[in-house]
Amino acid sequence: MKNYLSIDQGTTSSRSIIFNSNLEKQIDSQLEYKLDYPDDGWVELRPDDVVNTVKKTIANVLDNFNGSIEACGITNQRETTIVWSRDTGEPIYPGIVWQDRRTNEYCQELKSNGYEKKVSEKTGLVLDPYFSATKVKWILDNVEGAKERAQKGELAFGTVDSYLIFKLTKEKNHLTDVTNASRTMLFNIHNKEWDQELLDIFEIPNSMLPEVLFCDGDYGTIVHSDKKIPIRGVIGDQQGALVGQDCYEYGDMKSTYGTGCFLMVNTKDEAVKSDQGLLTTIAYGLNGNVSYALEGSIYSSGNIIQWLRDKMKFFDDAKESEKYINASGNSNNVLFLPAFNGLGAPFWDSNIRAGFKGITQDTSINDIVTAAFHSIAFQTKEITKVLETNNININKLLVDGGMVANESFCQMLADTLQKNIKRPANVESTALGACKVAMMASGENISEIKSNSSNFEPNKSLENIYSINYNNWKEYINKNLSKS
Ligand code: ADP
Repeated sequence: MKNYLSIDQGTTSSRSIIFNSNLEKQIDSQLEYKLDYPDDGWVELRPDDVVNTVKKTIANVLDNFNGSIEACGITNQRETTIVWSRDTGEPIYPGIVWQDRRTNEYCQELKSNGYEKKVSEKTGLVLDPYFSATKVKWILDNVEGAKERAQKGELAFGTVDSYLIFKLTKEKNHLTDVTNASRTMLFNIHNKEWDQELLDIFEIPNSMLPEVLFCDGDYGTIVHSDKKIPIRGVIGDQQGALVGQDCYEYGDMKSTYGTGCFLMVNTKDEAVKSDQGLLTTIAYGLNGNVSYALEGSIYSSGNIIQWLRDKMKFFDDAKESEKYINASGNSNNVLFLPAFNGLGAPFWDSNIRAGFKGITQDTSINDIVTAAFHSIAFQTKEITKVLETNNININKLLVDGGMVANESFCQMLADTLQKNIKRPANVESTALGACKVAMMASGENISEIKSNSSNFEPNKSLENIYSINYNNWKEYINKNLSKS
């Protein structure tokens, strides 16, 4: 049996896992690193921390594993932007993390100048600071001499995958894959090329950009002591989870409930356009073909449970939240607006803030906790409803992420959506996805590998109560949207 190295570079930690070709975990290592918050709405990382934590976790697994490694797959936080000197490999500014909102005003300016339609037609994205383009522009505008150096071809831009490939490969390759490229707001997802018109709008020289390969491309070689490991898979983290969960058919959807929640549904060769705030993006490029996906990002999910734990002090451990969930779907009319930092898809409202409605003298911790969980399930329903208006019926729904350890929450999702939900036994879907891409690139047949999962069937008798609660919640949200 062969073995594969999967590197999962996330927003707060880096991880390396060795899987065998049955997708069984052999060994893993994870290291956290810190983000910097230098100003209101600014989030930065130190690229050295990313590279060093990745290198250390690679060393930890390789040095403690007796066996050869066939290939490596990388999955990574998307959109985070790094600009470095081609000459020294040194970044000219810290990495600007996907969460960073510093370019909000510039995005508003572009919108009022009528650029939104063009951007969304070409890239499938909404004009928002979330994506890399305005972050690159900010670095070029604000780091002394950067613009001139970029024009002379001295600077390189990349998302985290690119910087890692550049730093880890002996060839010092400057490459990215189609999924990461599709999140930069500079990539035309239809012809699968960097878009000169967009580069002109954002004043970014073409010479800064990495070459774009399919996910199963040849990305170069990692050398570690006597081992030489080819990187044969690169895929953005949410897309990695889609592949990790085997969502290869039209209408297959995965939903990841971590700090935030990311839903992604496979639409195969159709780049479905949503005019209701969902993003059209590249799901994967494998075997010479590109599949598209629709994506909805929910900003607040597990962080709400953290807030109930750390600030409200309702419980000491997120696990304990489960015992406060009312399984009958009743929150005693308490509703929660889950907007600590605005609302993502399909609302895209940066200014709205969180709140409760319907609190009385009688309200208990159970009601508040239940309402908080409802708000996460209801946001999921909101996105599936938008998908249905685009004629996409959810074929199967698979869940992963830290929150799905909570069985009552999984059942609540099934009851709210009135759909069958599957939770795989191995919830490390993202890392699995990168491993699978590297395996496919190496010629392994992965379709026969069996995986276990738990099933959550919807309870028909709760359909009505969840539907009433959802409608009340929706009305509460609509009344509070800052645009309304
Ligand atoms: P991320 O990858 O975004 O850091 P994880 O997938 O590790 O997130 O999930 C962590 C989140 O899941 C935390 O916000 C935590 O509050 C939440 N969480 C963990 N266990 C539970 C649980 N049993 N019930 C509800 N929420 C949970």
